[in-house]
Amino acid sequence: MNSKFSGTFPSYRPRRLRQFPALRRLVRETRLSAEQLVLPLFVRSGKKIRKPIDAMPGVFQLSIDQLIREAAIAFEAGVPAVLLFGIPDKKDAKASGAYAANGIVQQAVRSLKKELPDLLVITDVCLCEYMEHGHCGVVQRGRRGAKILNDPTLKLLARTAASHAEAGADIVAPSDMMDGRVRAIREELDKRGFADTPIMSYAAKFASAFYGPFREAAESTPKFGDRRSYQMDAANANEALREVALDIQEGADIVMIKPALAYLDLIYRVKTKFGYPTAAYNVSAEYSMVKAAAKNGWIDERAVQLETLLAMRRAGADILITYAAVDVARWLRE
Ligand SMILES: [Zn+2]
Repeated sequence: MNSKFSGTFPSYRPRRLRQFPALRRLVRETRLSAEQLVLPLFVRSGKKIRKPIDAMPGVFQLSIDQLIREAAIAFEAGVPAVLLFGIPDKKDAKASGAYAANGIVQQAVRSLKKELPDLLVITDVCLCEYMEHGHCGVVQRGRRGAKILNDPTLKLLARTAASHAEAGADIVAPSDMMDGRVRAIREELDKRGFADTPIMSYAAKFASAFYGPFREAAESTPKFGDRRSYQMDAANANEALREVALDIQEGADIVMIKPALAYLDLIYRVKTKFGYPTAAYNVSAEYSMVKAAAKNGWIDERAVQLETLLAMRRAGADILITYAAVDVARWLRE
């Protein structure tokens, strides 16, 4: 900032505008609103099932009847959107549950759109929950170990996304980090009559220790190896910008940075450089750390959670995906 545009003491006293709550609110630069929140939900088969996730207090694997209940509570609280993850009964080497017309996510989408037509339903598009090995792509085992094949995976991802759109998903969100998947999904959606279905791509998704509690929730821990051959290295920011540029060129409508808290610099750079609708995924460990510290009486849960999300907004995020969405929406209403 040019110093010409900043006053000097004593004519300029920044504290003047901090004297009363109404004055502070008047000059507040960034606001949090329930309209920006997305609640991730985990759906599995069965009836009346609410299986708690140990490492994520307040988060459950839900059967469809319970999913609808939970989504209705969120919608009522002011949360406009949910992001669905499916836990199938059976896993195989082709992830067939991911694109089955009657797969768990496809059934859940149809039920949600029927019961809560105004709720935005976003679906996570990936194969890891449906693959017997837990990786996000097709695996080829060779002499030098297992390889995650890129191009054969694209067809399965495109098929999965189209099956979600067919079930009625409002937005599809590919999270696999294969190269070229946004283009493959866009082409398949267009071909099948879903040119109006937006893609929210997990554009810069990092191989992160902050996903630990999520893997228990989604039952998607890889059986061997790790995801570092497709998810990004935490050290790389320029590469993240190239990933986002690629996804935009391939047809992404919304780009996402995941995780969020330790990657605020990227939220800022992506928003500044591309000006696209930008989502921040406030991931499982970010949520669990706040819950654990609050349970111990070490922090004020509400104040820390709101400040964390506000920081993501200040960095440039338009959309906040958070497990705390319902509490946050209620706090904002009070
Ligand atoms: Zn995956």
